Amino acid sequence: MSVPLIELRGIRKRYGGRATRGDAQPPEVEVLHGIDLDIYAGEYVAIMGASGSGKSTLMHVLGCLDRPSDGVYRFNGHDVATLDADALAWLRREAFGFVFQGYHLIATESAGENVEVPAIYAGMSEAARTARSTALLARLGLADKRHNRPNQLSGGQQQRVSIARALMNGGQIILADEPTGALDTKSGADVMRLLRELADAGHTLIVITHDRNVAAQARRVIEIRDGCIVGDTGAHAAANEGPSASTPERVDAETPGAGRRPPIALPLPDIAHAHTQGHTGASLWADLREAARTAWRGMRLNRSRTGLTLLGIVIGVASVIVMLAVGEGARQKVMAELGTMGTTIMYLGSRPPSTGGPRGMLTDEDLDAVRALPEIGHVMPVIGDPITVRFGRADKQMYVMAASHIMPEVHRWQVAQGRYYTDAEDRDLAPVAVIGSKTHAHFFPDDPSPLGRQLLIGNSPFEIVGVMQERGADSGAQDYDDMVFIPYDSGRARVYQAQTEPDYVVVEAASAELVQAAEAAMKNVLRTRHGREDFGVGNAAARLQAEAATRSAMTMMLGLIAAVSLVVGGIGVMNVMLMTVRERTREIGIRMATGARQRDILRQFLTEATLLTFVGGTIGVVAGLAIGTVLRLSGVPVVFAVSAMAGAFLCAVATGLIFGYMPAKTAARLDPVVALAGE
Ligand code: ADP
Ligand code: MG
Repeated sequence: MSVPLIELRGIRKRYGGRATRGDAQPPEVEVLHGIDLDIYAGEYVAIMGASGSGKSTLMHVLGCLDRPSDGVYRFNGHDVATLDADALAWLRREAFGFVFQGYHLIATESAGENVEVPAIYAGMSEAARTARSTALLARLGLADKRHNRPNQLSGGQQQRVSIARALMNGGQIILADEPTGALDTKSGADVMRLLRELADAGHTLIVITHDRNVAAQARRVIEIRDGCIVGDTGAHAAANEGPSASTPERVDAETPGAGRRPPIALPLPDIAHAHTQGHTGASLWADLREAARTAWRGMRLNRSRTGLTLLGIVIGVASVIVMLAVGEGARQKVMAELGTMGTTIMYLGSRPPSTGGPRGMLTDEDLDAVRALPEIGHVMPVIGDPITVRFGRADKQMYVMAASHIMPEVHRWQVAQGRYYTDAEDRDLAPVAVIGSKTHAHFFPDDPSPLGRQLLIGNSPFEIVGVMQERGADSGAQDYDDMVFIPYDSGRARVYQAQTEPDYVVVEAASAELVQAAEAAMKNVLRTRHGREDFGVGNAAARLQAEAATRSAMTMMLGLIAAVSLVVGGIGVMNVMLMTVRERTREIGIRMATGARQRDILRQFLTEATLLTFVGGTIGVVAGLAIGTVLRLSGVPVVFAVSAMAGAFLCAVATGLIFGYMPAKTAARLDPVVALAGE
């Protein structure tokens, strides 16, 4: 006894009975009521029956597109129930060829590409694929229709394309569901002639029909009524004569047999190799190229939708880059200001205490005590007021600053001409002065070197010994260039005789890290000496640092806003992927019916998501750089960060992958019949 190719025992199929997706629970109906059927290799079987009798359901079970609710299906001796999804895909790919009533061609692919789909999943090389699909189409009289889309073909032509597709991987077992049902008489006759030739060539044919003439051509007719087999003409003859699939050596696939009843059947690939055949590592590159090609086509065919999604990603990525760059630019600008102002400088002055009482007084002894603190660097008392300054007949009210010889050091400033006065000159109460660049320009517009000239400050003559470099306007400070500098003690003796204490004291911390500690220590010493807090400390460094912190917070806010837009872009990708998968459920069904594995489907949709996000991310980076450059040219401080660019780009790709993965995974898990029924 030979093993039947297909052996059904007590196959039942029920629909409904389980609530799906929260719909009202439909009543359970049994469509197949225990089918027993043996089909041997090389048979040509017609299945007849009225509409609704369960023919299509039976064929879906036979073709492993659907699982029976009950009963045993042995394929070539193997229980199909024990096969996993990949092995079933392998069976559909290598053993079966489907010809559907509704053709089920992929609408976006050409005739040639439709024919090649099963071979892609079988891992055939592109050259071999093209050669075989061209030969098959030519054999079916469609040589000139290779590049036509399904909607550019007649029904009969589409049906012949689907037959070519069924034969692409060999198609040892052809399952045809009412192949002539939708065709005119002439096309129907063509298709039937083709099927007979295939039967003669050794293919096992199972053809569903309700047409007596079509059935008459088959060698065995099975009649089905209300889910039960009610008639079978030739099972025994076939069983005795048909050879088993386990003797494949005698076969020649492409040579049509001469007799009505061929003594041979096509070879059947060994099911035990289901997992080792088909895809191999060598074809990975080809697979990816194929996936990228399909993805690119999908994007091109839906230009407006693709464009809108791309826009979402581009805006997301670009705004992250620009906002972070602007934020960083602002922060660095503040830091730079901090550098010129000196990060270590504090201002000390006496003040009426907040608790009431007379204002305090800063004495020289107070300053000596502060100077002695280890956290403190320089201490420079300053007296400064607008005073009338004269040279010859010119006079001007200007700010005259009396400060010690360390002024250039404290303010990180240098003389342009001459020299600064010394400590010794200060102690000797020497009448010497250094002027700012604007003062120079005011009194000596035509004299590049005013050194040695005498200025009358108040009523005292001072000799100019130096001119400071131009400093420019410090943010918030007075204009240092428009001043005259005189020694502190000399100034007190000659100009500010009425002054009993400094107007303010510039105190420099020993280092930038010690500013806070220095401020605390200084306050502590003065509080102890005065017994109350009758002084105030202005901390320029702290103010600027606070500003820097504010800018940092702003950068973070901008970054957050940008991140939100990135997420919105990601949701756009998710939406598109969901819609794509929805729209293309039928295509997924077709691909699975022709042998795509779950991971093939997944890979296809992931490739599309990746391509979309890569293109969007790249455009986004370029757009971000362009916008940032324009901003920079118009004077906004902008600092690009490579990390922001990489981060935004990777985020876009990651959201695309995650959101692309979820719907694709759901689609790939569908049963092929369910997917095929999807609209
Ligand atoms: P045929 O192909 O012989 O015309 P089918 O096998 O397509 O018949 O359908 C047989 C019966 O099963 C029909 O009554 C049909 O309504 C029912 N049926 C088919 N598919 C489903 C389904 N997915 N859910 C519920 N009932 C179904
Ligand atoms: Mg049907």
